[in-house]
Amino acid sequence: MYSQKIIETLSNPKNVGEIADADGIGTVGNASCGDIMEMFLKIENDVIVDAKFKTFGCGAAIASSSVATELIIGKTIDEALKVTNADVVETLEGLPPQKIHCSVLAEEAIAEAIKDYRAKQEKK
Ligand SMILES: [Zn+2]
Repeated sequence: MYSQKIIETLSNPKNVGEIADADGIGTVGNASCGDIMEMFLKIENDVIVDAKFKTFGCGAAIASSSVATELIIGKTIDEALKVTNADVVETLEGLPPQKIHCSVLAEEAIAEAIKDYRAKQEKK
């Protein structure tokens, strides 16, 4: 059901954990497979210098989180907002149709974390 790339990602997921002094945190979830994804971003001068995630959910959600963090580290927040679930699916070499929503979660988690960052910036 899962591509080789997903299996590799699941056996060695990248950027698992949390960032204690994160500049932006996004938490999203979906009801269909009960996934909860929390994304932590460290941002300096609008560039994402570090990203970590904590995901409780199915394999597709965990693999999506892992590649999403890898895709956005080093990007500006504007570039990171352009990372879509299609990019995540492509990096994972495909997802089963019933698991596409798990990659959408990664896109949403990035957007939520950046929204949180921007809200915090406004308060400064
Ligand atoms: Zn899922």
